[in-house]
Amino acid sequence: MTNTRNFYINGQWVAPSTPNDFDVINPSNEEVCATISLGSQADTDAAVAAAKAAFPAWAAVSHTDKLDLLQKLLEEYKKRAGDMAEAISLEMGAPIALAKTSQVGTGTWHISNFIAAFKDFKFDRMLSDSAPNDRILMEPIGVCGMITPWNWPMNQVTLKCIPAMAVGCTMVLKPSEISPLSSIVFSEIVDAVGFPAGVYNMVNGDGVGVGSQLSVHPDVDMISFTGSTRAGTLITKAAAPTVKRVALELGGKGANIIYADADDKAVKRGVLHCMNNSGQSCNAPTRMLVERSIYDAAVETAAEVANAITVGPANVDGRHIGPVVSELQYGKIQDMIQVGIDEGARLVAGGLGRPDGLNRGYFVRPTVFADVTNDMAIAQQEIFGPVLSIIPFDTEEEALEIANDTDYGLTNYVQTQDHAKANRAARALRSGMVEMNGTSRGAGSPFGGYKQSGTGREGGVWGLDEFLEVKAVSGWVE
Ligand code: NAD
Repeated sequence: MTNTRNFYINGQWVAPSTPNDFDVINPSNEEVCATISLGSQADTDAAVAAAKAAFPAWAAVSHTDKLDLLQKLLEEYKKRAGDMAEAISLEMGAPIALAKTSQVGTGTWHISNFIAAFKDFKFDRMLSDSAPNDRILMEPIGVCGMITPWNWPMNQVTLKCIPAMAVGCTMVLKPSEISPLSSIVFSEIVDAVGFPAGVYNMVNGDGVGVGSQLSVHPDVDMISFTGSTRAGTLITKAAAPTVKRVALELGGKGANIIYADADDKAVKRGVLHCMNNSGQSCNAPTRMLVERSIYDAAVETAAEVANAITVGPANVDGRHIGPVVSELQYGKIQDMIQVGIDEGARLVAGGLGRPDGLNRGYFVRPTVFADVTNDMAIAQQEIFGPVLSIIPFDTEEEALEIANDTDYGLTNYVQTQDHAKANRAARALRSGMVEMNGTSRGAGSPFGGYKQSGTGREGGVWGLDEFLEVKAVSGWVE
């Protein structure tokens, strides 16, 4: 990879204004795998200025021409799938098979779905039949700062940059400094497509540097952020004096309600979903709520499934889970496992320390706690590692009450063959998404949370709307 120390500004790869090296660590072996630069105020200013200058012309480009560029972007993204998978696997530890399929695949999926949503998207709308001279004009908000995390890098980058490009915004992407390599590949892809200079810019940097500089910048109209609730609240405060729009996609502590009449794969499916990507997903079903009559059997199954999960390096082919992303995350997860033990939860799989035979790399044992109560820290805090908490319940009301008793509200899950009961749960759960009986949400479905899980909606027409202003006009005559 040639551009690791450079930024992509105004259609060019440029050196940082002041050298500031930062090592990217391979979490499978704890060794430096690349060196990037952290940007400074001058780099942020140059990228924002390029985006600001490009905005009027890009906003005026026709729907058809924008669509053509997005189609080319999809083709180029597919061509670079191998490089992208390697970059993601190296920087954040996703096993190469997962990187090639789900990690890269989320990008392909989102680009394709946004193209579909954009094809028929209406920017000019009638208010109503009774107000024929009123028009609603949807217009791009302007310059957007995109701040993304390390756990599903291309998922988050494409969920932000593609709709913003489509509707006529210009942007500065600041990917996570922990997983910057995939965004360098993404920037090469955008460069190869030939977007007008300044539409898309990318500056590497950390939260206190480029992240904060974008959040306070007077020429940035909107920040779209995915990451921790901690950083989300800081960004919201930093953006307040300039009254920016702030769209937040934050953490989660999803409940997976398993009723006694759930299908017989429900427990296994829930454990594997929780452990996928080494537990580093904001929508992971990390609290398994199980009806008392099947509780003991469910705990036994969950322990067996977790014990059968293998853990190994990211560059090895196979269906194992990889390391967690960093030493910091490894330490936080170990602390939370100790907290669970101290709180009196029953450890039925995994536990402290690395799996046998893995002495280097941030490898965590797939861990299951049973007899968890919802007031325990392991049931309330997002652990962001392969750690599942199992909680028993007796009645439907109790299950829903426990599920909703959390600061978060991203995705909840329901398992029952009684569809009326499932639908009652879907209505009662205070979350942006509810997935039932292992059915994934469809193409173009909006992703986002209630409560401290965030304020935005990404994907489909909602994802396009997110980057638009609404202008109400009266006295419009054709
Ligand atoms: P983070 O929120 O600290 O970082 C995410 C992004 O925000 C990075 O690009 C980072 O550089 C930037 N950032 C950090 N502080 C900032 C600030 N003050 N202003 C502007 N930008 C800032 O997340 P992390 O440290 O990478 O992970 C910590 C926790 O966040 C995890 O343990 C997990 O709980 C949560 N997380 C959630 C998601 C999600 O998809 N919901 C993703 C990653 C992490």
